[in-house]
Amino acid sequence: MNSPLRARGRARAVIIGGSMSGLFAAAFLRQIGWNVDVYERSPVELVGRGAGITTHPELLDALERSGAGTRELGVEVETRIALDRQGRVIATKHLPQILTSWDRLQRLLRETIDEAHYHLGWNFERVEQDGSGVRVHFSGDRMEEADILVGGDGIRSGVREQIMPAVQPIYAGYYIWRGAPNEADLSERALKEVFPYFSFFLPPQQEVICYPISGFNNDLRPGHRRFNFIWYRIADATLLKQMCVDERGRQHEYSVPPPLIRKGLIAALRDEANAALPSALNDCLRVIGQPFFTPIYDFIAPRIVSGRVALIGDAASNARPHMGFGVSKAGGDAQALADTLRDHDDIDAALAEYNRIRQPIGEIIVKHSRKLGTHMGVNLQTEEDRAMHALLQDPRAMMDWIAVPNFLDAYR
Ligand SMILES: Cc1cc2nc3c(=O)[nH]c(=O)nc-3n(C[C@H](O)[C@H](O)[C@H](O)COP(=O)(O)OP(=O)(O)OC[C@H]3O[C@@H](n4cnc5c(N)ncnc54)[C@H](O)[C@@H]3O)c2cc1C
Repeated sequence: MNSPLRARGRARAVIIGGSMSGLFAAAFLRQIGWNVDVYERSPVELVGRGAGITTHPELLDALERSGAGTRELGVEVETRIALDRQGRVIATKHLPQILTSWDRLQRLLRETIDEAHYHLGWNFERVEQDGSGVRVHFSGDRMEEADILVGGDGIRSGVREQIMPAVQPIYAGYYIWRGAPNEADLSERALKEVFPYFSFFLPPQQEVICYPISGFNNDLRPGHRRFNFIWYRIADATLLKQMCVDERGRQHEYSVPPPLIRKGLIAALRDEANAALPSALNDCLRVIGQPFFTPIYDFIAPRIVSGRVALIGDAASNARPHMGFGVSKAGGDAQALADTLRDHDDIDAALAEYNRIRQPIGEIIVKHSRKLGTHMGVNLQTEEDRAMHALLQDPRAMMDWIAVPNFLDAYR
């Protein structure tokens, strides 16, 4: 591992994970002259089941700088509204924001990388390092050498597991039911009362948050879009474990693949929705054929570099999704990694600098997400938690805090 490529003036990075972080890292590292290859364990192209993504100025900036661009990024919504149980609008906020989808971002970023350097069906197993480079082992006895390894392999990162096994995601005490029905399937009432808005419904210890996103194949035409529907619910670890038993009686560890979610759970969800949701929102849930749930976890890693291994995106730190900032952070991490490698002749000094700059930002983002999570009223430990929980019971405060741009300014 004597860094042969570096010696010839062209350093090489092996990147694990072919999603947001991995693709951002590949784009930014290539811009500074590095030779990069992305290894993704999925054997087929990644798809995002229609997940909605709120955008931030940092994300738009990272997309432009990476070369992915922001063309036809999503649906622009002007106004936020909060509803009461009867469906009356009880608060509004003017906040223009582009709402995009995971699929659109993946498509834009995927186009930045040459097919020859994007490898599907490569499962990372372990890394060895000797101070001057890495040897990366994959399933099937495959091996690659490089100057650095970049772990962009998500919240359950195998790269992180190897270099800091003590760092594990922590369950927040709540989960979300989600889905993205087609605009064409929504009722007249839903189309009029909620579809044009970033909508909130906020009963105690619950949050329903919805907004329009593009349709299949990034279709932005009226009538062809989708509606991102998210319902936060609380569940202790025991209840979550029960929810993770699938239709065939098999226990899953973190969540259940959508087609295997127990029919009884979905029937109970629909009953609860009938009783609890404003009619327009209930209409939206009713036309989601396959609602699925995602438990919410977070974690902070005390460092995001170990030797020649650097973590980025969700692998480096994972915030609860209340700010909708995960992809923005992935872009920021990737850009900082490339900037520090460009500005230092010495790779180890560059990685130390990357850690110094980005670890604290990841930590701030996670702590901020915990603050917003106090709305759910779970595990409130400090006076500050209880005060924040009380503040967030006002829907206007939620509209001022949830997924708003420039929240990091308060920490600068
Ligand atoms: C409910 C919810 C709502 C969200 N809303 C927003 C939002 O509005 N805005 C926003 O910006 N973010 C949002 N996020 C967060 C966002 O989705 C993530 O931050 C983002 O996807 C992280 O990208 P990543 O590339 O770091 O990780 P991932 O997208 O998880 O990608 C990791 C990749 O690594 C691959 N991989 C894993 N292990 C291996 C291995 N051993 N070998 C090879 N490949 C491997 C995986 O297959 C995967 O493709 C939300 C998240 C959730 C859960």
